[in-house]
Amino acid sequence: MEQKTIVTHYGYEKDSQKSMVVPIYQTTAYEFESTNHAAKLFELEELGNIYTRLTNPTTDVFEKRFAKLEGGVASIATASGMSAIFYAIANVAEAGDNIAVAKQVYGGTSTLTTHTIKRFGIEARTFDVHNPQELKSIIDNKTKLIIFESITNPSIDVADIEAITSIAKEYKIITCVDNTVASPILCNPIKYGADLVVHSASKYTTGQGLAIGGIIVEREDLVSLIKDNDRYYHFNEPDMSYHGLIYSSMPLPPFTLRVRLALLRDFGATPSPFNSWLYIQGLETLPLRMQQHSNSALKIAQFLDEHPKVIKVNYPGLKSDPNYKRAQKYLKDGMSSGLLSFELKSKEDAQKLADSMELFSLVVNIGDSKSIVTHPASTTHQQLSKEELIAAGVPEGLIRLSIGLEDTKDLIEDLSQALNRL
Ligand SMILES: *Cc1c(COP(=O)(O)O)cnc(C)c1O
Repeated sequence: MEQKTIVTHYGYEKDSQKSMVVPIYQTTAYEFESTNHAAKLFELEELGNIYTRLTNPTTDVFEKRFAKLEGGVASIATASGMSAIFYAIANVAEAGDNIAVAKQVYGGTSTLTTHTIKRFGIEARTFDVHNPQELKSIIDNKTKLIIFESITNPSIDVADIEAITSIAKEYKIITCVDNTVASPILCNPIKYGADLVVHSASKYTTGQGLAIGGIIVEREDLVSLIKDNDRYYHFNEPDMSYHGLIYSSMPLPPFTLRVRLALLRDFGATPSPFNSWLYIQGLETLPLRMQQHSNSALKIAQFLDEHPKVIKVNYPGLKSDPNYKRAQKYLKDGMSSGLLSFELKSKEDAQKLADSMELFSLVVNIGDSKSIVTHPASTTHQQLSKEELIAAGVPEGLIRLSIGLEDTKDLIEDLSQALNRL
């Protein structure tokens, strides 16, 4: 089944009411037929709904549809992109372990990995996404996960996914790709050797800035990497919190199963059924929107590239961009998503430009149908010094744009009037 058909049909079977739209099962719990039936559900002898913290029929459609769209075998939806990333880590690492994280990652991923999980005894070791060989010097037998972004936010680099996943395979380590900026329409990291894909559904998935959400997708046959692999011993030993269940011996995809049975059970960052319904609505138009976001962003990148007040434009779809070749390899049909950045000569110019925009809104979000302008040095990266900003790939004069679905002519006019004021 092709992507445009998956997003409109896959994973939904109409019940006797024949509702064309996936119904919202706005419920906390589900009735059992008998104590015997309840016991069977708890023992996983039979699969069925118990409580919405664990499963929900609306969320289930979203999970099935998204997994199929990514070329995975199963997925688990979460209350936010950050909880998806936290669960991906917590499912494999514990005190004394470490994970490898690309230097070029989303701000929340950076604080989660360098600060928050450190307090749980998990160390994050960083590597340059442009130099995957660095992984070899930071990996040891306590390294449980390698995390990086396919298109990085906010530096807008394209990772050489195969170079990273092939090193991970040598060491039998699970890889997790944050594919939020590319979306499953532009890139499917599983095809290039990734084991897990995470997304913030808050961005292109809902597509209109409607709700916070996240998802973890698992590839087919991840069990062959986990089974009898000492690195993942807790998938191969009985889980005493679940009557001795051994995840790697179950007939279900083990990674998402363990997130559901252990982490959603105990931490509970489940999406609301209503939000799952919003993600489903968003998915239906995702292929069309990604095409439009990408077309418009390329036109705007070309306009900025020729503007005398602009020092540099970062957009993987530009032939002059250092990421162009990787974009052609990993992103579909020449689409490079809606995120771009450009550099002005000073922080003052960047602030003045951001304040002069009329159609673009000054917001820290991406993937909205409405265009967004961000000045990272005064918002998301405000705590960093001038030198740290340069090291992070976000110099003081950098402006980030998330190109929405408005007419490109109006967007260019707005940029043009703001640039003329500098
Ligand atoms: C927004 C974002 C996240 C975090 O997602 P939330 O849904 O806001 O929790 C993670 N990774 C990337 C690349 C993002 O853009």
